[in-house]
Amino acid sequence: MRLGAIEAGGTKFVVAIGDENGNVLERDAFPTTSPEETVQNIFKFFDGKDIEALGLGCFGPIDPDLKSPTYGYITTTPKPGWTNYNIVGAIQEHYPGLPIGFDTDVNGAALGEAYFGAAKGLDSALYLTIGTGIGGGAIVEGNLVHGLLHPEMGHMMLTVREDDQYAGKCPYHGTCFEGLAAGPAIEARWGVKGNELDENHPAWDLEAWYIAQALAIYVLTISPKKIILGGGVMHQKQLFPMVHKYLQERLHGYIQKDEITTDKIKEYVVYPGLGDNAGVCGALALAKMAKER
Ligand code: ADP
Ligand code: ZN
Repeated sequence: MRLGAIEAGGTKFVVAIGDENGNVLERDAFPTTSPEETVQNIFKFFDGKDIEALGLGCFGPIDPDLKSPTYGYITTTPKPGWTNYNIVGAIQEHYPGLPIGFDTDVNGAALGEAYFGAAKGLDSALYLTIGTGIGGGAIVEGNLVHGLLHPEMGHMMLTVREDDQYAGKCPYHGTCFEGLAAGPAIEARWGVKGNELDENHPAWDLEAWYIAQALAIYVLTISPKKIILGGGVMHQKQLFPMVHKYLQERLHGYIQKDEITTDKIKEYVVYPGLGDNAGVCGALALAKMAKER
């Protein structure tokens, strides 16, 4: 099966051709400019490629509800030119009849990890990206979670640690998870980009403390069978053992499952099986799901 994939980000779009097993055969990328120019670049890549379905994992907020009149729109983004843009409509008009799978980038990545990656075969998983922003996608009992809109897991309020004086970066909430722990918050708090901080810098202990606090809430609310942490900040692999320790401390023996209380936690909270391909493979997974729908 030849499938098309689009990982639509606020700064760049990645386009790819792949198959139903998550193999990427060909890929390209271009910067996110105006919607009109961006879709022209999409068409330039996919025209004549003979794909059977297309998956689009998209920056948000979006409307992924097939029954809604604004299905397929990027909705209230502050990104200039993109507010209320019908991206699925534009693509569908160019490729009439092509099955298109459309969801948030993180729901796509969660599905990709469940089809092909670290959560392969599981009917329950959580994918979290910690990068320029923080977002989460969840599979619960085999289905991607949407609900009223779609989850916005990066914006819940967290308790600020006593030794942290930083006021938080989120324009809506200040010290929400994203405001405290996304890449730009790390940079604002410490004055240098995350990738320039030594792996032993105290920034990482604080970062792990916030991540674990958020994970405890997800464990208590959606009870995922696997938690996958991706995004640029998680390139700091030394975060994982600290996150494991702080998550155990925070849950304090309340969730009596080996995945939490024993060393098995190392396989419970993990790096993406698909690495930095999680986004593109996620879009392939969305395409596969659309084809089978
Ligand atoms: P995006 O979220 O825009 O799709 P990324 O997931 O790459 O992109 O996240 C970018 C953010 O992650 C930036 O704030 C950057 O400073 C931070 N980042 C990227 N690489 C690293 C690294 N190796 N260590 C720490 N932070 C990083
Ligand atoms: Zn927020």
